[in-house]
Amino acid sequence: MPSALPVLPGLAIFQRGWMSSNNILLHGEGAGAVLVDAGHVLHAGQTVALVRQALRGEPLAGVINTHLHSDHCGGNASLQRAFGCRITIPPGQWEAARAWDEVALSYGPTGQRCERFVPDARLLPGDAVEVGGRRWSALAAPGHDPHSLILFNAADGVVITADALWERGFGVVFPELEGESAFDDVGAVLDLIESLGARVAVPGHGEPFEDIATALRFARERLAAFRARPERHARHGAKVLVKYHLMEERQQPLTELLAWCASTPLFVAVWERLGRPDGSAAAFAGVIVRELCASGALAQHGGVVHDA
Ligand SMILES: [Zn+2]
Repeated sequence: MPSALPVLPGLAIFQRGWMSSNNILLHGEGAGAVLVDAGHVLHAGQTVALVRQALRGEPLAGVINTHLHSDHCGGNASLQRAFGCRITIPPGQWEAARAWDEVALSYGPTGQRCERFVPDARLLPGDAVEVGGRRWSALAAPGHDPHSLILFNAADGVVITADALWERGFGVVFPELEGESAFDDVGAVLDLIESLGARVAVPGHGEPFEDIATALRFARERLAAFRARPERHARHGAKVLVKYHLMEERQQPLTELLAWCASTPLFVAVWERLGRPDGSAAAFAGVIVRELCASGALAQHGGVVHDA
């Protein structure tokens, strides 16, 4: 269940799990509140309800997306309809979002769902936004997503880390799945986060945490393991794609699921990068599904695969 955790007065965090990113509500002082990240489209109704309840009549002036993955901006359109708020996005995908280029925005290649929205403004790295008397600096955080931002409030020592740093790890390094090197970016962003000296981190998924040093150590170990064996990262990426798809579908006959994998461009790209194991993308998908079932991430009953 979503919960509001106390990190700072005037800041409410809705912890949403894995299919939806956390939503961070920054209360304003008369000028209206701002929501950082909007969750997945399938949870958009719940997001609007959570935000409406927390606002207690305060207007929602804006939504800021740290990046445009479907789990971070899928609620944008519903929030805009409900509150008439402005949508602010990182600059790197401005044109793609305006034109709703589903390939550039990743929803085509990943086979994920997202409702179209129209962005109103760009938040550039180095810019800052003032909300409720607090200043949040936007910092470039490429790696997981080349266009991602993190937000830092120096006065209170709070960093909103999106998928660049979680308490245990970080998000799939998507450019690497597409054959572009981005592990250096991940490492540089971990260094950047360390240099901020923040007191508390609010990640894109999971609870806020204060032990940033331990999180950084864990993330660096994970990064070193991926660097040493990039094929492990690629397999991990394939698993995340399949698990995420089952979170959207809830359940799917195995034959349909394997066909979905074999027709999802990023899944096929990973299979190709791994040297086309198992003879076909569908057969490789069968292995990935078996591994996900063995680890308890998915379950299979009578030819139907379920999210677990
Ligand atoms: Zn992401």
